[in-house]
Amino acid sequence: LSDRLSGILSGLTRRGALTEDDVNAALREVRRALLEADVALEVVRSFTDKVRERAVGAEVLKSVTPGQQVIKIVNDVLIDTLGGEGEGITFDAVPPVPILMVGLQGSGKTTSTAKIARRLTDRDKKKVLMASLDTRRPAAMEQLAILGKQVGVETLPIVAGQSAVQIARRAVEAGKLGGYDVVMLDTAGRVTLDEALMAEVAEVKAATNPHEVLLVADALTGQDAVNTARAFDGRVGLTGIVLTRMDGDGRGGAALSMRAVTGKPIKLVGTGEKTDALEDFHPSRVANRILGMGDIVGLVEKAAATVDADKAQALAQRLAKGNFDLGDLRTQLQQMEKMGGLGGLMGMLPGMAQMKSQIANAKMDDKVIARQIAIINSMTAAERKNPDLLKNSRKKRIAAGSGTSPEAINKLLKMHRQMADMMKQMARQKGGMLGKLGSM
Ligand code: GDP
Ligand code: MG
Repeated sequence: LSDRLSGILSGLTRRGALTEDDVNAALREVRRALLEADVALEVVRSFTDKVRERAVGAEVLKSVTPGQQVIKIVNDVLIDTLGGEGEGITFDAVPPVPILMVGLQGSGKTTSTAKIARRLTDRDKKKVLMASLDTRRPAAMEQLAILGKQVGVETLPIVAGQSAVQIARRAVEAGKLGGYDVVMLDTAGRVTLDEALMAEVAEVKAATNPHEVLLVADALTGQDAVNTARAFDGRVGLTGIVLTRMDGDGRGGAALSMRAVTGKPIKLVGTGEKTDALEDFHPSRVANRILGMGDIVGLVEKAAATVDADKAQALAQRLAKGNFDLGDLRTQLQQMEKMGGLGGLMGMLPGMAQMKSQIANAKMDDKVIARQIAIINSMTAAERKNPDLLKNSRKKRIAAGSGTSPEAINKLLKMHRQMADMMKQMARQKGGMLGKLGSM
């Protein structure tokens, strides 16, 4: 894949906005990469639509090709779709907190139960009880008991002849009596999805009211894992997914598909047979595994940082001369918008803390910033350079153009005046920070 993607990436370096052709060319390869990583077709489609929407018209950074820029956007959308980091198991419930493990046979339920129990015991200092509800395979209960001994976690004593629901009830009861924090319920699986399995799991769920219902799914099974996730979520309702065999040679496409189809977070990842082979889910790592484009993502991030630094320096030089027009203000506002609020270039200029707090006082949320940018966009270049030109008739025109009011424009002009005054003052302080910056 990387070779093919590199092909489209070696296009000439060009500045400006991404065209539909740029985006489509890159997306053709991305589509192939996703399918190769075993991402479900429906997910590939909605995913590439999302990327196209975000990419067409986006600015191409200096020193980066359009193809590389698209890859960065693909990577960002991938991480968004995979969900945030750190959505681990939650315990905000009255102990003993029941955790129900469900999934097909061989997906790694019993192993994952022991792994999670070990982590909760060792790292989170929880008192954990494990119980096997697998009444079908005689060896299954024994398997969990052995794992329990290995990791130093107690298991519910085995009583012959009980149904899964009876065992589950007994486990919760024992959890209460024994002062346990968590009771982990490891259910039986089937080779394929079937109604009897679903009914049993649903019954156990109703009897124990688990705080987490975790689907354990094998990352190497691709499309099957997606169907399993959809079926379990529809029938019993999931709170999260544990993705096993991420140590295998799969590309991690199942992670994307399951998250996209069920909307449920991937909470943990199994990376081996040993009981310590359990990791938190890191969307950026999985994105890199699916795309295999970590280098390019890093490159584009570096280019973006360089552009920001360039802009900061150019601005500092203008400020040092006492120039701060509405165009500069717009650059500032855009930067703030990009950084998701306050900060941005301001943060990169020393001595700007004062101004930042002033802006913060003015309650500059994202909407306000967008409106102010719209106002400046509706001005002519001459007006941006020389705000004194802005008499009433011009203000009316700008208000109409930006969908705001003359009052909003006055407010913006006042803020600009204050900022410009402050900057002039700072520039005048000989040898002050701005002066130094300007001569850099
Ligand atoms: P269950 O039927 O769902 O309870 O599955 P098991 O927990 O018994 O696991 C089936 C097999 O998969 C065992 O041999 C495990 O050692 C293995 N296994 C489970 N999780 C992982 C994993 O994350 N990576 C690898 N390589 N093997 C795993
Ligand atoms: Mg099992």
